[in-house]
Amino acid sequence: MANISKYKTAVYPGSFDPVTYGHLDVLKRSLSIFDKVVVAVACNKKKPYLFKQSMRIDLIDRILKEDEEIDNNRVEVIALKGLLVKYVESINAKVIIRGLRAVSDFEYELQLAITNRTLNSDIETIFMMTAEKYSFLSSTIVKEISRLGGDVSSMVPKVIASELAKIYSKGENDETLM
Ligand code: ADP
Repeated sequence: MANISKYKTAVYPGSFDPVTYGHLDVLKRSLSIFDKVVVAVACNKKKPYLFKQSMRIDLIDRILKEDEEIDNNRVEVIALKGLLVKYVESINAKVIIRGLRAVSDFEYELQLAITNRTLNSDIETIFMMTAEKYSFLSSTIVKEISRLGGDVSSMVPKVIASELAKIYSKGENDETLM
């Protein structure tokens, strides 16, 4: 079992497709505990991402630079390649951060955490609860709302809202979200 209190760096992995205020909330909470947080942006060939990995990284970088609540010296954004635990080992970190919203996240997150622990029992996954107002917010819902022309300004930073608007203004659709 890892004595995580002595470790100062945590890795926050995810798709961030795109990053939302929920992700940023978890990042800020993590920075209140750890000296440094590495945001590891995943690329899983089986997932149909809206934004390319390089774009997701670039957007997070831009948002962090503009966020006065975040000390940019304590955050690094990287492109995750291969197994997460291997990356965590490679930087001598012992902690993975994941966010929890509702009970519905629990089963998947538990499976992931146990899998990672099976691969390396020294690495602990820590779960951060998001602020209540973001507890039903997901990248998927943001994309759906934006695709249908809705206002996502309370859910994502401006730059994300405008990138989404650019993408979705190109195509018309007659689908509905209820
Ligand atoms: P993944 O594909 O790895 O689930 P996501 O970008 O969807 O990537 O999520 C990354 C992490 O951030 C997950 O642990 C997820 O539960 C968490 N997360 C996503 N949205 C929120 C939110 N609104 N509040 C708290 N945690 C969140």
